[in-house]
Amino acid sequence: MAKIFCVANQKGGVGKTTTTVNLSAGLAKLNQRVLLVDLDPQGNATMGAGINKAGLEASTYEVMLGTSDVATARLRSEAGRFDVLPSNRELAGAEVEMVELERRETRLKDALALVDADYDFILIDCPPALSMLTLNGLCAAHGVIIPMQCEYYALEGLSDLVNTIKKVHANLNPDLKIIGLLRVMFDPRMTLSQQVSAQLEQHFGDKVFDTIIPRNVRLAEAPSYGIPGVTFDPSSKGAQAYIAFGAEMVRRIKTM
Ligand code: ADP
Ligand code: MG
Repeated sequence: MAKIFCVANQKGGVGKTTTTVNLSAGLAKLNQRVLLVDLDPQGNATMGAGINKAGLEASTYEVMLGTSDVATARLRSEAGRFDVLPSNRELAGAEVEMVELERRETRLKDALALVDADYDFILIDCPPALSMLTLNGLCAAHGVIIPMQCEYYALEGLSDLVNTIKKVHANLNPDLKIIGLLRVMFDPRMTLSQQVSAQLEQHFGDKVFDTIIPRNVRLAEAPSYGIPGVTFDPSSKGAQAYIAFGAEMVRRIKTM
């Protein structure tokens, strides 16, 4: 049985895609079988895993609408050594088209159930909105990973996400919980980063992951080569941090 996690935060540019791609590659390095689900019409995770989003025969879009299935649509990221359910801008249309369909919140959950036995981890890269797509991610998952930058406005908007997660937990998916807040793009030289980081630990306790992802230029460079940062420069501080985060996730699921 795969453990399924959503990487979500309705803010854009907070490190969701970087986290999904590099956690996938980090877990693969630890010999875990991983499927990355790209649930963002921008297709950044697809490209970051080395898959051309322009030439897809089937994608998350067809899977959500039920005209294809995960086993058909998934592709292999050779660079990352994990599977990808790829996406592109077509997926934006699913938002509207799904309104007509039955069980529209659980279409992704139902689709993933068929490949559950093939993986140890399924990681879902969510779009930057609390939309029907994100709702499908939350309904499919056992837990949510929330990447955030330790800056002044970091906590703003977090309550909207937490309330949405609570509602999904109460009404649609009793399995769902927040696994943790992941501090990303961290700059230890900034006093503010350290203050916000300490506040997060005080407020959220063990819901804050031990691993901290530093700001690291190699992680930002890797996507343009279509290679996850973890494989692009394995010795870089960013890669090392995501491998450590993979190990922390493997530890955490043992107690779930
Ligand atoms: P999101 O998916 O939440 O929109 P991304 O993962 O695409 O966010 O990250 C936004 C930008 O920040 C990208 O250009 C990415 O390369 C960069 N970035 C993300 N994490 C790091 C990091 N730890 N160090 C340096 N750059 C990063
Ligand atoms: Mg993204």
